[in-house]
Amino acid sequence: MTDPLARRRRETVELVAALTRRLDSILESAAYTTNDDEHDPEGVTVAFERAQVAGLLEQARTELRELDAAERRLAAGTYGLCARCGDPIGQGRLEALPAATTCIRCAR
Ligand SMILES: [Zn+2]
Repeated sequence: MTDPLARRRRETVELVAALTRRLDSILESAAYTTNDDEHDPEGVTVAFERAQVAGLLEQARTELRELDAAERRLAAGTYGLCARCGDPIGQGRLEALPAATTCIRCAR
């Protein structure tokens, strides 16, 4: 039996860790370059990459919170039920989106 929720959560935990390491290394290398972001082309690239990685990290953390909420629903016995109409959420949808809170009809 596959457990898409646990698998996705594990992947997301790894993603958060990888992005955190990447952000740390960007910040670390930025500490060795000039602080003149606006006039140093390298600084602009670093600032852009930093913002991009920070955005991805924020997304991954949001997904992790949603997956944690899904695990609480699993423990409470309400996982896989639509939060709006109460019908079961399709298996295919849960595999694609383990943190889904609504069935495909309500999501439309
Ligand atoms: Zn529904």
